[in-house]
Amino acid sequence: FSQLIKRTFSTVSHDPHSIEGNPIRVLQWNVLSQALGQNNDKFDSCPLEALEWKRRRCHMLEEILRHNPDIICLQEVDHFDFLSRALATQSYSGLFVPKPDSPCVYIKDNNGPDGCAIFYKNNKFDLLDKQEKILQVWTVHSNQVSLLLVLKDKCTEKELCISTTHLKARKGALLSTLRNEQGKDLLEFISSHALDRPTIICGDFNAEPTEPVYNTMCSCPALPLDSAYKVSGSEPPFTSWKIRGGEGEVMQTIDYMFYTKHKLTVSSILNMPLEKDIGDNRVPSMSYPSDHFSLVSDFYFKKTSNDSE
Ligand code: NDP
Ligand code: CA
Repeated sequence: FSQLIKRTFSTVSHDPHSIEGNPIRVLQWNVLSQALGQNNDKFDSCPLEALEWKRRRCHMLEEILRHNPDIICLQEVDHFDFLSRALATQSYSGLFVPKPDSPCVYIKDNNGPDGCAIFYKNNKFDLLDKQEKILQVWTVHSNQVSLLLVLKDKCTEKELCISTTHLKARKGALLSTLRNEQGKDLLEFISSHALDRPTIICGDFNAEPTEPVYNTMCSCPALPLDSAYKVSGSEPPFTSWKIRGGEGEVMQTIDYMFYTKHKLTVSSILNMPLEKDIGDNRVPSMSYPSDHFSLVSDFYFKKTSNDSE
């Protein structure tokens, strides 16, 4: 994996007596759709060969597999069949939900709609339930989706709800309100299927921590959530760092892993890369295949009060 930008893990302090079982490693990543990245995003400072599918697909797999996640939540997936076949060789099963009107399908030589995908290690988990939803804004369907799986840890028999989404992109007060409405609908959807289970919600929320949707996610009475990366002190300075023609340099924190804080504990997180390792042209680049960096976190189940010591 020497070609990829270096990444290091940080340990998050936690009470070892309050946890049980083995950690579950979750990876969250907007992989950058091949059709959009090559033909729509205007990544002018990125060499064309870095955007070629033959190169990108290898780097995409390397970035996922070098962290050895138990569960993988991806957005902007427009090559699910490839990922599914490749990850199956490493004991992953995956599910995919396309966006209803993906911008990818309007691009010449596209590979179908982009959407959200979740993969899990099938030697570690059994799939108990799968739900998908088109997110609503004021009761009207939007173009954004969510995918939710209920998994059972084969070893501990504990159940976990894992969900992913990719909220509406772009800046502006109206769009920020729209994302907040999508967040509310997402929480309603997830709480109705997660019930009392430990829950992790990963995604590209397209919103800085100052946007209303971030607060909405962290103040849901039915689902008490915290952001995994914030547990280390504060959200990272960026999760996406790109240069676009016309727009210039964009550095944003918009990707998150929310988790039920009374049921799960974060024990480590994958740090964002150093600026010097990212390089002046930012990403995507010859050493990283997406404009978003992956987030990886290790979660432990918290001991429940009726567990025997
Ligand atoms: P979003 O606004 O959510 O964005 C769609 C994608 O564009 C995201 O993956 C996003 O990436 C990316 N994006 C965000 N900002 C930029 C930017 N400045 N430049 C390039 N790409 C960007 O779109 P919707 O899902 O709401 O869909 C868009 C709608 O537009 C669809 O309904 C479709 O019908 C329509 N459309 C029509 C086309 C046509 O030719 N008729 C062409 C394209 C779209 P990220 O989340 O990483 O920021
Ligand atoms: Ca994108």
